Amino acid sequence: MGQLEGKVAFITGAASGIGREIALVFALEGATIAIADLNQQGASTVAAEIEKTGGNAIGLAVDVTNEEQVATAVATTVKAFGNIDILISNAGIQIVCPIEEFSFADWKRMLAIHLDGAFLTTRACVKQMVASGKGGSIIYMGSVHSKEASVLKAPYVTAKHGLIGLAKTVAKEGAQHNIRANVICPGFVRTPLVDKQIPEQARTLGISEAEVIRDVMLKRTVDGEFTTTTDIARVALMFASFPTNALTGQSLVVSHGWFMQ
Ligand code: NAD
Repeated sequence: MGQLEGKVAFITGAASGIGREIALVFALEGATIAIADLNQQGASTVAAEIEKTGGNAIGLAVDVTNEEQVATAVATTVKAFGNIDILISNAGIQIVCPIEEFSFADWKRMLAIHLDGAFLTTRACVKQMVASGKGGSIIYMGSVHSKEASVLKAPYVTAKHGLIGLAKTVAKEGAQHNIRANVICPGFVRTPLVDKQIPEQARTLGISEAEVIRDVMLKRTVDGEFTTTTDIARVALMFASFPTNALTGQSLVVSHGWFMQ
């Protein structure tokens, strides 16, 4: 029997990268999955992949910054599958730029996707977790940048630090309802989000793409290796299946030792 048999997981940004891998792994562990992503076609493709292996999933077109769309997607999931036991708030983007050139519009867009998205999905899912009386597990996709800064990433670092505050608050408010909240903090993972940054950083820093990988992204790891989507899905499974409030309000760095607490 899978570790998430009978559970329903609502995963944002699951049409691609880390969220997609978590959706596939959770489905193999028995969970029913709602893939909530801006990319409707990508969400449907991942849902079809899950169905093909005997799992149960729906793809939902959702902009996590839109209050109404988030409420509708959560309601649709509950109607289809009866409950939501796990929220993975994972949708995210990256914009790299020196702070003095960062447009206010890009700053607001970054905070909206990472923080408003986390708030709106949390609020909607917590309501359901309380109403069901079963509680649940909320997992935020933070980053090493929840703990550490890097140049050119002011709004990303700000937002990712903010997620730790949100998780700690939800852990305190949720405990009485058996709702847990934790943050996963990955190092660099080769997904479309990172692949886009490599040439951008090379241009901005005036170095080659190979140098960006070796001297910027992986320089401070213990072994010069990228973290993988599989590594992150394993940790998400650990948080999602943990049975008690002993593990709540925490943030765990998974980065090949780039950042050590
Ligand atoms: P990705 O680009 O592969 O996937 C991100 C997904 O989010 C995409 O499917 C995209 O359509 C979706 N998305 C973007 N904006 C959205 C919105 N407004 N509403 C709904 N969906 C939206 O990226 P990824 O690397 O898998 O990143 C996933 C999360 O992991 C992000 O929060 C990112 O900050 C975090 N993270 C990534 C890395 C890394 O190295 N890749 C490291 C640390 C943290």
